[in-house]
Amino acid sequence: MTEQSRLNAAAERRRMGPRFSANFMMVLEVSRDLACLCADGVILDINSAGTPMLGAERADQLIGRRFSDLVGDDYTQVVDELLRLTEVERSTIPVQLRRLDGSAADSELQIHPARELGPGHAVVIGRDISRQGRLARTARESEDRFRVLVEKSMHLVALCHGGRMVYINTAGARMLGAATAGDLQGTPVADMFHGEYRAIFGGDLTLLLGETDMMPVRLANRDGGAFDAQIKVTPLPSAGVVPEFMIEARDISSHLRAVAALRHMNETLEAQVSERTRELAQERSHALEAKSFVESLLEAVPNPLWWKGVDGCFRGYNRAFREMHGIGPTEWIGRSSIETLPASFVPTAIMSDTKAMMTGTLIQYETQLEVADGSLHDMAASKIAWRSADDVPEGVIGVMLDITDRKAMEAELRRMATTDVLTGVYNRRHFMTIIGTEVERAHRHPRPVTALMLDIDHFKRINDTFGHPLGDEAIKAMANACQDAIRTVDALGRLGGEEFAIVLPDTDLAAAMVVAERIRAAVMAISIATGKGVVEFTTSIGVAQLCDDDGNAEGLLSRADAALYAAKNGGRNKVVAA
Ligand code: GH3
Ligand code: MG
Ligand code: MG
Repeated sequence: MTEQSRLNAAAERRRMGPRFSANFMMVLEVSRDLACLCADGVILDINSAGTPMLGAERADQLIGRRFSDLVGDDYTQVVDELLRLTEVERSTIPVQLRRLDGSAADSELQIHPARELGPGHAVVIGRDISRQGRLARTARESEDRFRVLVEKSMHLVALCHGGRMVYINTAGARMLGAATAGDLQGTPVADMFHGEYRAIFGGDLTLLLGETDMMPVRLANRDGGAFDAQIKVTPLPSAGVVPEFMIEARDISSHLRAVAALRHMNETLEAQVSERTRELAQERSHALEAKSFVESLLEAVPNPLWWKGVDGCFRGYNRAFREMHGIGPTEWIGRSSIETLPASFVPTAIMSDTKAMMTGTLIQYETQLEVADGSLHDMAASKIAWRSADDVPEGVIGVMLDITDRKAMEAELRRMATTDVLTGVYNRRHFMTIIGTEVERAHRHPRPVTALMLDIDHFKRINDTFGHPLGDEAIKAMANACQDAIRTVDALGRLGGEEFAIVLPDTDLAAAMVVAERIRAAVMAISIATGKGVVEFTTSIGVAQLCDDDGNAEGLLSRADAALYAAKNGGRNKVVAA
């Protein structure tokens, strides 16, 4: 047989189907499939692989049985018919084998007519497909489960074929604003994207393939709205040239809103917390500062200050106050004025406290207060009621200024302004004020007033003989003699040089002449011892009583001066009445 005739025979065999020879069962012993020769549907022979497949241990357990009895009821008739066929049936018949041991197995049968071996002969080739059947069932079940999973997913799941939506699940349809999934089938995938996302991804979903993480995009709602979503695109194994993709997406707009709200809430909370923290810190530091500041301030103030409650009891006081009264930091706290202050000062303290509380105004007064060392001090006191934040009177705050020194200085200044430095008697200006006052008063209440003008006789000689300082001594001696001769209500003034004047209120001319005479005598008695001998001198005195014509003090004094002139002319050391 040539190569060509062998190839032709093979082609003929494929066309005509197999032709069985007598020893074909021997050949089929090598097959792993079931091979069985039947005549009129009864098994004549079966190979080794087929025996266990039909649940038998030996072939003779099967030979003589009808093959159709070994298949499930549904297949019995079909198998019997096929076994009687004379034409080749190329398709395989899936059947369930009913095995001798009672178990079942899925199998695929192919039945070939074999008339060349005898009438009613046929060969059955069977393949155990129970394994494949399980796989197929599992796959089917898996697919069902998968379909349920996809359909019930909360997220959008869609299949895309050639840029069009071929499947979308219910959640996806709802997400995109479609009434049913069918509304979206066949629509361009581009339609699901919003705005510039449509321009970018609509045409080419492969741009999204590289994204390992879910890609944030804006998707379009059917009603024209947009929402934020995360999307993932997975390519599907495709038989054809048209790319297929699975699209998964989930709506994250509410998530984003929640995140934004949370972030906002966090930020707000954080801001509030930090604001409150800052406030508390400030309040704390302010409180500390305020306390230490006020305490330090009060302690540092050199003036005694204190505060009392509405009950009149001390609530606090500063260092200067403690020193003034010689008390400890808490000694007077909670105690009243009567229990603490010097008895002489208590009425003043209580009255001023009451006044400050009643009026609500600043009360100021000057007083004298016996302090710790027993000395009496001049004090200027200020008091004011203090009120709580809600305007309820809480008590009285007081502060004192020790004005003892000021008072002394004021007195000194006043003395300096009114007295003559050399003699200590009133100076001309102050004397003129006093005599002016006396003259006016005498005019209002008709009473006698007299004035004396005095001048040392030949005073130039004293200066010339003993020197100017001795002259001053003489002037001082003259002043003393005058001061000693008059009453306290009388006033002596140095008008200049060795000239003096005296005003005698409630004194008539006669009485004044007596005083003047006493002065003249006293001056005559003056004797100042010096290295150059004794200084002695006399004085001339003019006396005038106020009369209606005098008008003012000047008039009175000029008449007294005229009388003095007369005394000089009369020989000096004389008293002359005007
Ligand atoms: P008479 O008796 O006329 O008053 O003669 P007199 O020398 O006192 O003359 P007069 O009163 O005119 O002269 C006063 C003199 O006193 C003139 C002046 O040099 C002198 N004098 C004035 N003031 C002072 C003074 O403060 N100290 C001294 N030592 N001398 C004074
Ligand atoms: Mg004179
Ligand atoms: Mg003189």
